Amino acid sequence: MVMVQKDSSGLYPEARLEPKPNEAAKLRPRRIREGPLDAVHVFWLAGMSCDGCTVSVSGATHPSIEDLQNGTIPGLPKMILHHYVLSTESGEEFVENYRMAWKGELESPYVVVYEGSIANEEIAHRTGGFWASMGTEPDPEEPEGQRSIPTAEWMKRMAPGAAAVIAIGTCATWGGIPASAGNPTGSMSLMDYLGKDYRSAFGLPVINVPGCAPQGDNFTETVAAIFYYLQGIGPIPDIDALGRPAWLFAETVHRGCTRGSWYEEGTFAKEYGDKECLVELGCWGPVVNCNIVKRGAINHVGGCMEAGGVCIGCTMPGFPDKFEPFYTEPPGSIISTTGSKALGSFIRPLRKVTQNSQNREPRWDAEHDVPSAWSEVGEPGPVKKVEEWLYRMWQGTNGERPGREGKDRNWGGTRPGRDEDYPTG
Ligand code: SF4
Ligand code: SF4
Repeated sequence: MVMVQKDSSGLYPEARLEPKPNEAAKLRPRRIREGPLDAVHVFWLAGMSCDGCTVSVSGATHPSIEDLQNGTIPGLPKMILHHYVLSTESGEEFVENYRMAWKGELESPYVVVYEGSIANEEIAHRTGGFWASMGTEPDPEEPEGQRSIPTAEWMKRMAPGAAAVIAIGTCATWGGIPASAGNPTGSMSLMDYLGKDYRSAFGLPVINVPGCAPQGDNFTETVAAIFYYLQGIGPIPDIDALGRPAWLFAETVHRGCTRGSWYEEGTFAKEYGDKECLVELGCWGPVVNCNIVKRGAINHVGGCMEAGGVCIGCTMPGFPDKFEPFYTEPPGSIISTTGSKALGSFIRPLRKVTQNSQNREPRWDAEHDVPSAWSEVGEPGPVKKVEEWLYRMWQGTNGERPGREGKDRNWGGTRPGRDEDYPTG
């Protein structure tokens, strides 16, 4: 048995290896039939994963896995999903489908999805083991023996013939937690594993749908966009420089966050459970590309800040190492929070003046009376009136003030049940 020693920084030497494109990248992509297609196979493989991606994808609703499988989306071919958790087949019968895809024996094109990061199987092989495998086959190193087939090897076999390869979740897209500092597995992302030159049979590089776990609809929507392209009725999906669907990952969390206005007014949560912006508790939202608060975690409900949690940057290539320690104020946010606190201390009172004014009907102003039975909503006092007048004068210095003055009003005479006449004109 070969014992692999950690170096002085606690890493195994292989974990430091520069990832190299494997042989799959050098293979010439196979030509496959283009649309119209009745069905597309989707083969799911898992490496160093917690199965969280599977959980979130099975909860997707727009579209759902069932929508894709049943072919209920107009124009889309049916998805035939081969998944070790969701498929009804098991054992050799299940694995045989993967062999058929690898050998080009399927009638329909296929897409390969990889969940989890790809470990360096050479490390495990030295001690006769493996990190992540699926199925067995005769072992060339041991007559009459069987070997487990690493899922990384399945990827190497299937990638050249795939219509598209999708990395799902941050482990597959960027290496994620299994590739973080101190790991003994030499894990890497799918992009690092297949290399820059990899192209699918349809000419596509690896498509990345990050997140730990990813938002499920982000994945199913990407699959639908790819299917439209394979079907020949949609364009090549709009993918950004890092291989992410651009329409899903172009904006920062902060830009869609329902707590953003607290940030802008310089008001911040002091502890979990507070309603304000969470940046001082460790939120990285202003610099992280993610749409979860806009889209919700499942069925448009939830999402990190909606559930009271900070953003720890789980969709980003630098996650987790560059975001640790979690739950402490991100460096740099001190500049923007100090700025927004200073501006907010000036802006908030002015907004309150406007809000107080806009919270009254013009009729109430004219009558000097607010007929609410819920509480005493009194006339503003002299100080507030002067404050409001000054502010309105100032608002008007740059042009016309908003709103129509009372003199343009027709109050319509007497209100039923009241004796007084109301001013007209
Ligand atoms: S909670 Fe985070 S994402 Fe939301 S406004 Fe604050 S800093 Fe931005
Ligand atoms: S908001 Fe941040 S922590 Fe939450 S899913 Fe998006 S990137 Fe991950």
